[in-house]
Amino acid sequence: MKDRLEHVQERIRQTAKACGRSETDIRLVAVSKTMPVEIVKKAIETGMTDFGENYIQEAREKTSSLAQYPVTWHYIGHLQSNKAKYAVRMFDFIHSVDSLKLARELDKHAKKIAKVQAILIQVNVAKEDSKSGVYGEDILSLLRDISQFENLAVKGLMTMPPYFNAPDKVRPFFAALRGLRDQIKNENIPNISMDELSMGMTGDFEAAIQEGATMIRVGTAIFGDRH
Ligand SMILES: *Cc1c(COP(=O)(O)O)cnc(C)c1O
Repeated sequence: MKDRLEHVQERIRQTAKACGRSETDIRLVAVSKTMPVEIVKKAIETGMTDFGENYIQEAREKTSSLAQYPVTWHYIGHLQSNKAKYAVRMFDFIHSVDSLKLARELDKHAKKIAKVQAILIQVNVAKEDSKSGVYGEDILSLLRDISQFENLAVKGLMTMPPYFNAPDKVRPFFAALRGLRDQIKNENIPNISMDELSMGMTGDFEAAIQEGATMIRVGTAIFGDRH
């Protein structure tokens, strides 16, 4: 795992350098879904600080057994409103907010524990039926509603583009997310910041970095195949 991690970090460095970005502006989120606590612990000891999880039940076990470590936890899976309560207790960032209903639940539960929950809005850039996420044209009105919630802090956008196994083909979708981010920034909606772009996984993180990703979510390239 150490070798794989170093290889990923080297690719991040090279790519950032080639497009004139600072590697420190790119946060590597190690996607540890399905990986047992022992493996995550090893990853922490190797120097990883940010972990991404997709399932609430699984994350409860990991976040509680690893509570003594200074880890930043990211929720990247689809989140049902009835799990909002658990998500705000465990996660520093929730990347997958895609409805007002979910945002309202997160705000409510964050308020109960006196937390301001950092969230990203998940965007369905290619309008695929199989994916969650808001359509580009609906995002401004959603953000205006969310900006009223005192216990949520919107940090940016997240996307899962169509899978092509060809980074050049997904790149336009990453560019589209960046374009949307810039457009939203121009609106100056109070209480909404748009500094983060969560995009890029094992197969396409270099393309995502070239298009401005600030958070890349990498599982397989770090941990190996999931069973
Ligand atoms: C599983 C997952 C990833 C990581 O995928 P890899 O191809 O293993 O790097 C990233 N983002 C989301 C939302 C995921 O569900």
